[in-house]
This record gives sequence, structure tokens and C-alpha cells, in this order.
Amino acid sequence: MSTVFKKIIDKEIPAKIVYEDDEIMAFYDIAPIAPVHIIVIPKKEIVSLNFVKEEDALLLGKIQLVISKLAKEFKIDESGYRVITNIGKDGGQTVNHIHYHLIGGRELGIDM
Ligand code: 5GP
Repeated sequence: MSTVFKKIIDKEIPAKIVYEDDEIMAFYDIAPIAPVHIIVIPKKEIVSLNFVKEEDALLLGKIQLVISKLAKEFKIDESGYRVITNIGKDGGQTVNHIHYHLIGGRELGIDM
């Protein structure tokens, strides 16, 4: 079933997009918990890490490269940052489209 992130990919609802190519999109989180809080997603609809396949390996690698570039662009590469992907109920996943939170711009505690 499609999610709010699919609507963002299809430009049916607005988002502050900071990166986009054929396969990947990144945009500001609507409820940021730090000065930099960006959501990075594949355009392919994958629910979570529970559902990735061998054929997704390159795509997942590209996402990490995008995250690395964004960290530099937002000048948090040297101060440090956190990358999180929540999986399922206990993981706190609320949107069932695999996504990576890029969070930084302040010191992050263990419970953030
Ligand atoms: P999760 O809890 O599933 O790991 O994270 C989902 C994230 O998506 C949350 O941090 C939430 O604030 C963000 N989010 C949910 N709906 C929207 C939306 O419509 N637009 C944007 N930009 N972010 C959203």
C-alpha cells in the first residue's frame, strides 16, 4: 500500500526537496528533531530493511553515498551526525516506505 512518501515522490504533496535523481529523493522531515533532519528514500517502494532483496544492493549503496554528500552540503560532516532507519513497530517506524533519517547540527544523546 502506498504511503505519504510515495505522494511526495509523485509530487502530489509538497516537501522541501534537497536532493533528487532517478532513484533517490531527500527532503526535510516535517517534524525535525534537530537543526538538520533530512529523510532520504529510494523511489522504489520497499517497506523496510525487512523487505530488501539482493537486487537492491546497489540502490542501498547509492543511498549511503547521497547521505554522505548531504552531510557535507549541510556542513555536519565534521561535527558529526546520525543515520537511522526504523523498522516495524518496536523500531518506531511510522511510514512504511524504507527511509533513512539524517540527523545532525547538535549533539545527540543516546535517546536523542
Ligand atoms: P519513522 O518514524 O517512520 O522512522 O519516520 C517517519 C518520519 O517521516 C517522521 O520523522 C515524520 O516526521 C516524517 N514525515 C511524516 N509525514 C511526513 C510528510 O508528509 N512530509 C515530510 N516531509 N515528513 C513526514
